[in-house]
Amino acid sequence: MPAGVIKTLLEVLLSMLRVDLAYARVTRPGEAAIETASASGRPEIAQRAPELGAAMERWLKTETWNTPITIEDPLEGGKMRLLVGRFGLHEDSGVVAVCSHDQGFPTETEALLFRVAINQAVIGFQEAQLLQEHQRVERLALEAASLGTWDYDPLTQEMKWSDRCKELFGLPPDAKVDYRAFLAGLHPDDRERTHQAVQLALAAETGGRFKIEHRTRGAQDGLERWVSAAGRAFFDESGRAVRFIGTVFDITERKRVEAERERAEEAQRASHRLLQDVIDNSTAIIYVKDAAGRYMLINRRFEELFHVARDVIVGKTDYDLFPKDRADAFRAFDLRVLEAGRALESEELAPQDDGLHTYISIKAPLYAEAGRAYAVCGISTDITDRKRAEQSQLFLVRASRELGTSLDYETTLQRAAELAVPTLADVCVVFTIEGDGTLRPAAVADTSPARASSVREFLSAHPPDASASGRFGRVMSSGHPECSTGTPGFLGRAVPAGSRWEPLRELERKPSIDVPLCTRGRFLGVLSLTSAGPSRRHDPADLALAEELGCRAAFAIDNAELYRKSQESIRARDEFLSVASHELKTPLTSMTMRAQQMSTLLARGSEGPRLATQLSAMLHVVNRQLQRLGLLVGELLDVSRITSGRFTLRAEEVDLAALLRDVADRFSEQAQTTGCTLSVKCEGPVVGAWDRLRLEQVVANLLTNALKYGANGPISVKACAERDKARLVVEDRGIGIANHDLARIFERFERAAPSRNFGGLGLGLYITRQIVEAHGGRIWAESQPGMGATFFVELPRGSSCAS
Ligand code: ADP
Repeated sequence: MPAGVIKTLLEVLLSMLRVDLAYARVTRPGEAAIETASASGRPEIAQRAPELGAAMERWLKTETWNTPITIEDPLEGGKMRLLVGRFGLHEDSGVVAVCSHDQGFPTETEALLFRVAINQAVIGFQEAQLLQEHQRVERLALEAASLGTWDYDPLTQEMKWSDRCKELFGLPPDAKVDYRAFLAGLHPDDRERTHQAVQLALAAETGGRFKIEHRTRGAQDGLERWVSAAGRAFFDESGRAVRFIGTVFDITERKRVEAERERAEEAQRASHRLLQDVIDNSTAIIYVKDAAGRYMLINRRFEELFHVARDVIVGKTDYDLFPKDRADAFRAFDLRVLEAGRALESEELAPQDDGLHTYISIKAPLYAEAGRAYAVCGISTDITDRKRAEQSQLFLVRASRELGTSLDYETTLQRAAELAVPTLADVCVVFTIEGDGTLRPAAVADTSPARASSVREFLSAHPPDASASGRFGRVMSSGHPECSTGTPGFLGRAVPAGSRWEPLRELERKPSIDVPLCTRGRFLGVLSLTSAGPSRRHDPADLALAEELGCRAAFAIDNAELYRKSQESIRARDEFLSVASHELKTPLTSMTMRAQQMSTLLARGSEGPRLATQLSAMLHVVNRQLQRLGLLVGELLDVSRITSGRFTLRAEEVDLAALLRDVADRFSEQAQTTGCTLSVKCEGPVVGAWDRLRLEQVVANLLTNALKYGANGPISVKACAERDKARLVVEDRGIGIANHDLARIFERFERAAPSRNFGGLGLGLYITRQIVEAHGGRIWAESQPGMGATFFVELPRGSSCAS
């Protein structure tokens, strides 16, 4: 309670009510009176407040409030009239008592004025309290509490104003006043409103109450003042207003302070709006939490990501928003910042709609003036993508390293599958494309090793659809990976009922990614990733990572395949070299022996027909071996021509039937020696545009083989024309060829018969095929082991010879 305010109130009461004594006491709960004061026309009584208070105490009871009673004068004896009122101000409560020796005290007006004065004083006190914030309590309280009074007789229009009232209208104490002067003294903007309020108070039905805040404009000093006016009109029995009395006091300062505060608050609101606008436009999450972890401010991004409105979050903590483990982590970091007293940086994980996100958070303490940290301000930037890119890079580096550790084909396939698990999927299957176009499950990796064997078994029994319209075919033809979100079955194949496939049930309808394995423009297969987890969803980042892994895997698989082929080539070459040297050496050895024998014969000096016969026989052998050598070298030369692209054809009109008879003739002697019959069957001429010498080579190769592998059985050779084609068939009854060798024997160096029984370079059929294909034809064999073999050659009869 501002000091001196009580005193002012008592003085106002003494002057307004013309009482002999006034006493007031203010108490606070749990405390004795915190202020007492008394006043009187006589200063010596004013000095005796405590004594007066003690003497009056027994009268100051609830029952006496606002009800006048007669008492003994507590100080000087005799009867007195007592009026007690009370007021409350915040926690304080006050009692005010006024005494008069006039036995007619108080009149109704005096009783009313008593209450108005107390109320106005209380309002004044409140104003003063408000101003206390601005360090001007004393002066303003006094000013505010300094009441002016007015008394207006509506019948006579007579008006009485106290000096203070005149002062508030900028008039000197001796100024004459009337209602017109009152209206003239009002600020033009408030005049009508105030006049209306007076008119309303003077109307009996409104009860005569009057309360308004308005401005005055000093008639003489021209100053503008704010005034709080309150009063009451009284009416006669006919409802006519007979008196209108009230008080005024100056609230200019309060209004100024209010305006100032309003401006300050508006400035604060504007700066808050500016701050909010700035932080709302940030893509980072920004927030302020008080020292107890309660949110004070968040930005729009925060609202959007965590689905919480800023006016709802204020006062809430992380425990109201996030799972406990996350909230614990956030709080621990906040506390570290408060303890450190400076900004700290750390990575934090926050749960969002699409899973956990990684943030880099910078948090700093905010300080109150006293140097005490009252809050933590945080700015958190989402680095999930960056983090993921880093992890993806690391993953791919590791994948490249792992894939490069082996050149073994099967090991590489398995590594590729294992790398994807569990980073990209729970199950990874690497399918390779087989020669017949089917997809083979070449490698399986599974987070559950027990299930892996079921997966392998199932896919071997139910190979996936490799047709162009199937999911794998689509991926291979587009060359791009595809995500599928739970198609029926497992990898597009329905899992049959039965406990055998039970482990695969949980893989049905699960999201998967199929990545084509492609390198050097060639498809090697498909890498298929399936996620068994309940909530796993593959996003574009997974797809990109899977594609990258697919690229690296394809590259490694291709390398391993090339390595495997090169190893096979080396093996084939070594084998060929050993066979070739053997083949070349045999005729050479034979010729060397004959040459030595001839030298010996000649050295003996023998002559005559016997020597000639011996030498002729030996020369015959040498001749045969030379032919054989010539054939071997010819084959080698042809292969070298084919591989170096120097193999050309010279087409001319050729009768295949005549050619066949001619070549067969050349072989008749050899056939006779081995005791086999060689029959040639041709119906009329079979004419076409072919390279004669090369065609002779084809027939000779097939006949050589028939004699070589024909087990001395009969050999038949046929040629016939079939519209625009010519067909040549060479059939023997020899050792035959196993089914799995039928295609292979046409490849370079490929042989199917045991080399210890049959010599040869494994080049004859290869060269034959090259010649036939160069003519635009085709060659194939039909056979069964032990049942002989039939070789078919089909040639277009036109001049479509390719070079
Ligand atoms: P080679 O010099 O070994 O005979 P070819 O290329 O002519 O080479 O034949 C390849 C292989 O095909 C032979 O090694 C043999 O195993 C098989 N082959 C060729 N013709 C016949 C045939 N008429 N009967 C059985 N096997 C044959």
